[in-house]
Amino acid sequence: MNCVFCNIVSGTIPSYKIFENEQVYAFLDIHPNTLGHTLVIPKKHHENLLVTPSELVAELMNVAQMIAPRILHAVGSRGCNITTNVGEVSGQVVMHTHIHIIPRFDEDGLKHWPSREMSFDELESIASKIISE
Ligand code: AMP
Repeated sequence: MNCVFCNIVSGTIPSYKIFENEQVYAFLDIHPNTLGHTLVIPKKHHENLLVTPSELVAELMNVAQMIAPRILHAVGSRGCNITTNVGEVSGQVVMHTHIHIIPRFDEDGLKHWPSREMSFDELESIASKIISE
């Protein structure tokens, strides 16, 4: 399989490594949203977070929790977004599970997703639809 992140894990494609252990590899995003933007990935290929074994998801989050403060300290940031995209519709481009750690800065130009007004009736109907799945 020709997966760019599998090639990074194997060393076929170079990367700026931040951390690695037996199961997880973390490296700088090549087109960072902000300074220090880091990706945390499983060494084993899984398409996205929802189909990654839960123990591995836990390990990815453990690593993210452990390295994020170091990243923030190194780049002088007071907070970050820790996020993942699932599926093309969400903006996932690389189909190998990855967690973004994006340090945030005042006036960094990034915006939160837009929100919308919704009635209590609509919220209730969506909640019951999801619960009944
Ligand atoms: P996503 O849109 O969630 O799939 O994010 C994929 C991320 O991978 C993007 O932020 C890219 O900049 C990043 N990326 C793609 N190729 C490389 C690479 N060779 N090294 C480091 N980051 C990469």
